[in-house]
Amino acid sequence: MLQVERISDTLWEIPRDCEKGMRVPARIYATEKLIQEMDETVYEQITNVATLPGISQYALCMPDGHSGYGFPIGGVAAMDVEQGGVISPGGIGFDINCGMRLVITNLVEREVKPRIKELTNSLFKEVPAGVGSAGILKLTREEFRRVIEEGARWCVANGYGCEEDLALTEEQGCIDGADALKVSERAIDRGLNQIGTLGSGNHYLEVQVARKENVFDQELAHAFGITAPDQVVVMFHCGSRGFGHQVATDYLQIFLRVMENKYRIKILDRELACAPFNSPEGQNYFAAMKCGINMSFANRQVILHHIRKVFSTIFQRSAEDLGLRMVYDVAHNTAKLERHRVGNQERMLLVHRKGATRAFAPGMAGVPEQYKQLGQPVIIGGSMETGSYLLVGVPSGAQSFFSTAHGSGRTMSRTKARKLWRGQKLQHDLEQRGIYVRSTSWAGLAEEAGSAYKDIDEVIHAAETAGLCKRVARFSPIGNIKG
Ligand code: 5GP
Ligand code: MN
Ligand code: MN
Repeated sequence: MLQVERISDTLWEIPRDCEKGMRVPARIYATEKLIQEMDETVYEQITNVATLPGISQYALCMPDGHSGYGFPIGGVAAMDVEQGGVISPGGIGFDINCGMRLVITNLVEREVKPRIKELTNSLFKEVPAGVGSAGILKLTREEFRRVIEEGARWCVANGYGCEEDLALTEEQGCIDGADALKVSERAIDRGLNQIGTLGSGNHYLEVQVARKENVFDQELAHAFGITAPDQVVVMFHCGSRGFGHQVATDYLQIFLRVMENKYRIKILDRELACAPFNSPEGQNYFAAMKCGINMSFANRQVILHHIRKVFSTIFQRSAEDLGLRMVYDVAHNTAKLERHRVGNQERMLLVHRKGATRAFAPGMAGVPEQYKQLGQPVIIGGSMETGSYLLVGVPSGAQSFFSTAHGSGRTMSRTKARKLWRGQKLQHDLEQRGIYVRSTSWAGLAEEAGSAYKDIDEVIHAAETAGLCKRVARFSPIGNIKG
């Protein structure tokens, strides 16, 4: 058993000298309860991350942390690119730029509840979900290459959304430096028909309500568009589909070939395959991974277009009239170059956030102009049964390179969840409790039961108490479509 020291009620540290060539200490944000429940593999993985070349300050794990491929999900690692820092696909995740988008409406629960089945069924029909689902967008390979370089900007230029959507998306929906030439034909094959699709598993599209008692900061909520009691919002979660997965797979193979032979990097776990950021392989992956980031922004932009169409049809009013505006779109699987203060120096760091959300404080570059004085909105899913959150970045987030949790995080494997619950029964029970769920797979639905996840309120309490973010509002589900 590793030595874990308590730093505070919500922060735990595994010291650097504990074993195996850690370059920095590892730190886990969690309450006592969450740390007790954390799976052992998280300790193993986060201390492995601490051995990676160029890692700055700490290998971090957010309160929703659980084991993942190489890095834990919930992992944050900032690599100093001028000190031999590496880039690692395992620190980003296979679903590049998996992320959350939050949209407000000017409808309230009383108006939506009577039509929730019709609305959810219609969303289920218009937003393709499930493994390998195809979207309505028929693109040539040439057009797809433009999408992955231009992201959501391409969508808005082609009639799927408006300028305001871009302003309210991380990186304004298009990250600079994406290069389609660094992406394999196989990746393009897999992504070609997937723009505007949700995918499977825990990707979801949820109709939610902001109940009055669940607004924690009136002023911020107001500024983000949550103004009425029982206001209805839409939150959705998806990523770069088969495209991002293929990009990650391709470069993991390349990195495994060059890592030891060419760069003499020894790692404890093959899943941590990496290359120096400033190497040709590292740079190629960075440019390809950015295509994944853009593909995902485009994906969520086209899904928003479908949502607007569905609401407009059901409620017989235009999307503008229904106030279907974005609050924000934020990624939780990326690596980005950012300037951060380390000691008394400003350093250029490649911040890996894998199942972790950027949470920039008020005034920071990168926060949308209209939220500049407030801080960056952070969107976090809980589960289809429990609830979800809107948070905001705060200055004390500097301790985690301005990162926080991304969800509640699983407490059990999908296999175990499938043994404990039956999808059909779960759907029935949820409906009794006022949550109408549609899914492409009963087994898939069983895997997503609320109790398969940690307690979202506990996770958010840990993140807020530790000073990583601040609560704005909590949303309760009333309709959900699952991949
Ligand atoms: P991940 O990005 O690791 O795939 O999952 C993101 C988070 O979304 C999970 O940790 C979980 O807390 C949350 N989540 C998964 N399914 C649902 C859902 O149907 N509704 C809501 N609101 N949250 C979900
Ligand atoms: Mn994902
Ligand atoms: Mn995700």
